[in-house]
Amino acid sequence: MSEKIPYKTYLDEKEIPTAWYNVRADMKNKPAPLLNPGTHQPMTAEELSVVFCDELVKQELDNDTAFFPIPQEIQDFYKMYRPSPLVRAYFLEKKLGTPAKIYYKFEGNNTSGSHKLNSAIAQAYYAKKQGLKGVTTETGAGQWGTALSMACSYFDLDCKVYMVKVSYEQKPFRREVMRTYGASVTPSPSTTTNIGRAILEKHPGTTGSLGCAISEAVEVAVGTEGYRYVLGSVLNQVLLHQSVIGLETKAALDKLGEKADIIIGCAGGGSNLGGLISPFMGEKLRGEADYRIIAVEPASCPSLTRGKYAYDFCDTGMVCPLAKMYTLGSDFIPAPNHAGGLRYHGMSSILSQLYDDGLMEARSVKQTDVFEAAEMFARVEGILPAPESSHAIRAAIDEALKCKETGEEKTIVFGLTGTGYFDLVAYQKFHDGEMDDYIPTDEELAKYAANLPKVD
Ligand SMILES: *Cc1c(COP(=O)(O)O)cnc(C)c1O
Repeated sequence: MSEKIPYKTYLDEKEIPTAWYNVRADMKNKPAPLLNPGTHQPMTAEELSVVFCDELVKQELDNDTAFFPIPQEIQDFYKMYRPSPLVRAYFLEKKLGTPAKIYYKFEGNNTSGSHKLNSAIAQAYYAKKQGLKGVTTETGAGQWGTALSMACSYFDLDCKVYMVKVSYEQKPFRREVMRTYGASVTPSPSTTTNIGRAILEKHPGTTGSLGCAISEAVEVAVGTEGYRYVLGSVLNQVLLHQSVIGLETKAALDKLGEKADIIIGCAGGGSNLGGLISPFMGEKLRGEADYRIIAVEPASCPSLTRGKYAYDFCDTGMVCPLAKMYTLGSDFIPAPNHAGGLRYHGMSSILSQLYDDGLMEARSVKQTDVFEAAEMFARVEGILPAPESSHAIRAAIDEALKCKETGEEKTIVFGLTGTGYFDLVAYQKFHDGEMDDYIPTDEELAKYAANLPKVD
């Protein structure tokens, strides 16, 4: 191991960002506005504030303000687990025999085990400040629900989580973490909402989906006094909060005198990737620097690489605003054997616009290749990665191997979003050879795309 660059770089506490960066301020083509699903007119702040907290609505709609100061109470909370380390993956480089330098920003060092706490604490803070009693949300694999329940217990807010039924049953320990922090957890679809009952009637025995859980959580928030709905990804406000990842990464690289050539992140709804790349994309948009930026998604849920760029529903019940995004259609559900997370049908409007403008690349990877990369990483770097994060590991390894062929000494930075301790059933499938790579056919995707709402 070279002595020049430390294995881990932490910023000093006083170097932690004090403002979030809003990449929309530097985008020439702004992300398309959310539309009212009934009238197809842009959603107003007033309409949005029925569902979301007022301050978050402002952040959602603001395409111009470059920096939002991080309130002191949120900065204080961040200090419990931030700064997160920027790690030089010396052992992975050695294993691969690559001349490339590989860095990863590790966001798994908190009890929720992922980057999601960065936005959960912000959203809970604004809900509390507004004097609300509580919030509702959905969770798939459970990381967002866990992060939000931690944030809500910190601010003494009630937290109702609708958890996709298949995860509720397969991940009982996630559920117990949420309950430890005081959240109530309901498997979705449930009989507690109109939408849940309707879905159960139409599809008895369904194991649920994120889109369906969102609809239930929104229905409860809108119908319960003193409650609002919060979402852990996709929205502009979430990418704004997650910019803390990219700002820290950039500051740490600057401190080391390093410049990234390639920046890689996994993409589900797009929040970690959007946050990681924000300051770098800002430089790129302002013409100050250039970077290759790569979004990595599962081949079984390929919204950027095979989806349509169109307005679509964010949820199954069609109660949420329409968002323009790369989407597979709101009733798309990845094959049941898909174990690697990142199962949302759409993608952040910001990232969708940047991708459409050719400012970033996207690729899809098969889940067995992802778990192979996860295992290699775990064995040399020590951290047991989340399957979601391992999509980025896969692409980073592939780029480093290309450098080995060409002899180029590129600097690769990727986001390691979380740990995989609750994903051991997926690891087990991989080890037992029971994991396969179902990739949807063009015909299947066309069937879902045909149901996209008509918006002109
Ligand atoms: C939720 C999650 C993701 C994907 O969500 P994005 O909004 O696309 O970032 C990735 N990694 C981990 C560990 C997660 O929990």
